[in-house]
Amino acid sequence: MMSPLIELRALLGQTGVLSAQEASERAAGIWRTDTIQAACIARPRTTQQVSQVLEFCHAHNLKVVTHGGLTGLVHGADSTKSDVVLSLELMREIEEINAVQRTVVVQAGVPLQNLQDAADAEDLFFPLDLGGRGTATLGGNAATNAGGNRVIRYGMMRDMILGIEAVLADGTIVSSMNHLIKNNSGYDLKQLFIGSEGTLGVITRLVLRLREKPLSRTTAFVGVENFNSVVELLKHMDGGLGGSLSAFEVMWRDFYELVAKGSKRGGGPIGTHHQFYALVENQGANPKLDTENFQALLESALEMGLIEDAAIARSERESLEFWSLRDDVERTFQWGEPIIFDVSLPVDKMESYTTALQENLETLMRGTKVWIFGHLGDGNLHLCIQTPDGEAVTHRKIIERCVYEPLQPIGGSVSAEHGIGLEKKPYLHLCRSEAEIRLMRTLKATLDPKGLLNPGKIFNHL
Ligand code: ZN
Repeated sequence: MMSPLIELRALLGQTGVLSAQEASERAAGIWRTDTIQAACIARPRTTQQVSQVLEFCHAHNLKVVTHGGLTGLVHGADSTKSDVVLSLELMREIEEINAVQRTVVVQAGVPLQNLQDAADAEDLFFPLDLGGRGTATLGGNAATNAGGNRVIRYGMMRDMILGIEAVLADGTIVSSMNHLIKNNSGYDLKQLFIGSEGTLGVITRLVLRLREKPLSRTTAFVGVENFNSVVELLKHMDGGLGGSLSAFEVMWRDFYELVAKGSKRGGGPIGTHHQFYALVENQGANPKLDTENFQALLESALEMGLIEDAAIARSERESLEFWSLRDDVERTFQWGEPIIFDVSLPVDKMESYTTALQENLETLMRGTKVWIFGHLGDGNLHLCIQTPDGEAVTHRKIIERCVYEPLQPIGGSVSAEHGIGLEKKPYLHLCRSEAEIRLMRTLKATLDPKGLLNPGKIFNHL
C-alpha cells in the first residue's frame, strides 16, 4: 500500500484529504492546547465517499476516528499518528425541511446552530441547545447523545432523531432514514449508533424532528435559601406551568458569585447572598398570558417561602444576559484549567452528595474550589474543581475517585450527557454492570470485528 494520504486522495480528490502536517496545525478540541495527531484527515462530501474511505481503511486495517465539531469534553475523539481521522466538516448541507411533517433531513456535519436558524426561518424550532452550538455538529450530537439546556421539556438528542444513515466499519451503508414518529417494524437500529461515540459506525445523515416555534419565552433568576426549597420550587413551577417549563438550571452560590461579579454589568440580576440560584424558563404560545401566569407562580413561591428573591427578564436581550451567566463556565479557568465533571444522580441525594464531596476534597487538599451548577431538572450536575496550586489536572486521579466512587451506592452515573470517551473509561463499571459491558463488547465485535472504529473509547474492545 502507498501512504493512506495518496490512496485516499485518489478517492476524495486533492482537497478532500489533509496531510499529517496540516492535521497537526489544528487544535485537538475546545479548551485544548494540543493538536490533532493523524496519518491524514479524510474529508468526504457524501455518504458514498464515507463508505469508500471506510472500505479502504477496512481492507488495510487502518484505524478510523470520526470527527465532528470537537466540542466534546471526555477525549472521545482523540487520535494517534497512525489513525485516519474522518472529518464530516464538508458534509454541511441541510437537505430538506418539511413543514407539514415537521422533519428535517441533514448531513452529519451541519453545525447545531445552523439548523436552529434554518428551523426558525420556517417558523419551526429545533430544541436541542448547548454552549457549543456554533461549532458542535448534528452528527456529533447524535453520536454522543447530547443533552444541554432544554432536556426537561424536549429530551436529549436521542428523542429528536427519527432516522439515521450510517456506514459500518467495512463500508456497508445502513440507510434507516425513517420520517415517521411511530414505527415499530422490528429493531430500532438507529439506537445502535446514537450515543455510541463513533465506535459502531459513522453517522452520515439524519432525519430530525422539529417542533412548533414557541411564541413566548419568560426567563427568571431566583434566589433560594436551601436545597429543599430548590426541589419544591421545581415541582411548584413544573406543575403550575402545565408542561411548558423549558429549563430549570441551578447554580450553587460560589458559581453564581463568580459569574455575576465577572459579568459585563459587574453584577448579576439578584444579590449574591442566597445559597442557591435557579434560572427558570418557560416557553409558551401566548406572550401576555404566559408571562402573567409565570409571574403569578413566582409570587406564590415567594409567599410560600420557596424563594427569597426573583428577577424576571424584561426583554429578549435580558433573557440572553441571564443565560450568558449560566454559560460562563470559562470564568472558572482563571486559576488554571479546572477539571470539569458531568454526573447524574437522584435529586434527593444531591445535597448530601455535594456536601460530602466538598468535605472530602477539603480534607485531602485544603482550599480546593468546587463550583457546582447544572441541569437540576434532569438530575444532572456539572462540577468544576480546582486545587489551590492551580494544577487540578495533576491531581486528576484522586479528584476523580472522590467524584465518581460515591455515585455507585446511590445509583448515579459517571456521565449524564458528555459520554465516556477515554476520560471516564476507568469508571464505567461504577454505573454499568458486568453483563451490560459484556453485551456492549458483543455488539462492538459484531459490527466492527477488526476493532477499527474509534479504538479504545468507552471500554476496552477486546
Ligand atoms: Zn450540560
